[in-house]
Amino acid sequence: MRRIVKILAVLAVALFILSLSRDTLLFYARVAKLYTQEPDSKIAMPLQDVSKKAVADTWHAPRGTGRLHEGQDIFAPRGTPILSATSGLVYRIGENNLGGQTVSVIGSGGRVYYYAHLDSYAAGLEVGDRVSTRTVLGYVGTTGNAQGTPPHLHFGVYTLKGAINPLPLLTDRPAPVLTKNKPKESRANEP
Ligand SMILES: [Zn+2]
Repeated sequence: MRRIVKILAVLAVALFILSLSRDTLLFYARVAKLYTQEPDSKIAMPLQDVSKKAVADTWHAPRGTGRLHEGQDIFAPRGTPILSATSGLVYRIGENNLGGQTVSVIGSGGRVYYYAHLDSYAAGLEVGDRVSTRTVLGYVGTTGNAQGTPPHLHFGVYTLKGAINPLPLLTDRPAPVLTKNKPKESRANEP
């Protein structure tokens, strides 16, 4: 009887380790696949109602001593949902001094898209989650060194060689489509 319990315990531990490593392996397999793909030449504006024209180009603007701005700031009211600019995988969720609450997504070509100063994270968002351009990552805020400034999203794009300017890649999101039921008359004309 004791032996059976022991065997069951060992089996349970083995299954637990297997399930963990399977998730980890799956994550690395997906990251590896992303690396083999061409990086996106166009990415979606992370805030639905902000147009590209509204973004004042602050790429490489001086920030304090010897630091350049490695991204773009996109201003919007606190709490505005931040949508992923690309499809990909959630790579990191965490806090740092400059960025405050941040989410990083790895996309095609192994590029990392960095969203910073978040007021809060999207509920249930986890590292390893697959995202699309319709996935909410979090909400606009002023965490990190954005405290005391108008709420904005700091958006950065990193290649293996370092940061690149996100602005030329950004494209406006189409206005949300309001779907209506097709009137019956229009169907009569269809073949
Ligand atoms: Zn910034």
